[in-house]
Amino acid sequence: MAVTRFAPSPTGYLHLGHAYSALFAVENAGPTGTMLLRIEDIDLTRCRPEFAAAIAEDLHWLGLSWPVPVRRQSVHFDEYRAALDRLDAMALLYPCFCTRSQLAAQVSASASAPHGASPIYPGTCRHLAEAERARRIAAGEAFALRLDVAKALRQTGALSWTDLDRGTIAGDPLSLGDVVLARKDFPASYHLAVTLDDARQGVEIVTRGQDLFEATHIHRLLQALMDLPVPVWRHHPLLMGPDGKRLAKRDGVTDLRSLRADGKTPEDIRAMICQAAT
Ligand code: GLU
Repeated sequence: MAVTRFAPSPTGYLHLGHAYSALFAVENAGPTGTMLLRIEDIDLTRCRPEFAAAIAEDLHWLGLSWPVPVRRQSVHFDEYRAALDRLDAMALLYPCFCTRSQLAAQVSASASAPHGASPIYPGTCRHLAEAERARRIAAGEAFALRLDVAKALRQTGALSWTDLDRGTIAGDPLSLGDVVLARKDFPASYHLAVTLDDARQGVEIVTRGQDLFEATHIHRLLQALMDLPVPVWRHHPLLMGPDGKRLAKRDGVTDLRSLRADGKTPEDIRAMICQAAT
C-alpha cells in the first residue's frame, strides 16, 4: 500500500503508453493505497485545458479514480520560484545565454555527447565573469537558469537511490550535465517541478516510464539539496510495436479516444497493453 502518482502533460490525448503508466501507478499503489493524478502543465505554450479535461475523462472511462482536487503545476509557479531562489542563494545556479542554435552547434561539436542519449550541455556559460552576466542580463538578453551539478554534488556528497526492480542505484547526476531548472518563458522546469510536487504530495513510489530513468539522478540531487523526503522509484518498460520499436503513431491508432470510438473496451485496452509490454 503506497501513494503513487500518474503525471501526464496535457499536450494531447492520452495514448496506450499513458494508460500503461496510469495502470502501473494504480498497481503499485496496491488495493488500499492511493494513486494521485497530477497535471504537468508548466509549458503554457503546449498545454491546453481541454486536454487536461480529456485526460480525466479517459482515465475515468478506463475505470480509474483519484483524490480531488488534482494538483496542476501551472498554479504553483510561486513555489517553484521559491525553490529556485533557495538554490540561487546556495550559489548553485547560473544564467545560460546560449540560444537553441548555439546549443545544437556546441553539442554536435562535442565528442562527449553519448550516442542516442539526450545532448549534454558543455558548460559554455558556467564560467562567465559576474560582470559579463550582469551586463548581458541588463541588456535584456534571454537566459535560462542551469544547475551547476558538479558544485551541487560537492555540497551533497555521493548519493544513491532505490529502484524497486534494480535495487540500489549509485547517483550519477553528472551524466545529465548542467540541466536547465528555469527558462525565460517558464519559471520552472520539469526536473524542478516534479521533484517538489512529489514531495508536496507525499508520493512514496514514483512510477514512470523507463525513458525517465536517467532523470531520477537529477531528482535525487534536488531532493538532497532541498532537504526533501526521498521516495523509491519504479520504471516500467516502454510499450513496443510489432516491429520491436517503441510504440508510435506509425503502428496505427493508439490514442484512447479513437480506440474507444472504434468500439474498444477498457478490457481491450488492458489486453493491448499487456501485449505491447511483453
Ligand atoms: N509529465 C511527464 C510526462 O508526461 C511525466 C513525469 C513523471 O512521471 O515524472 O512524460
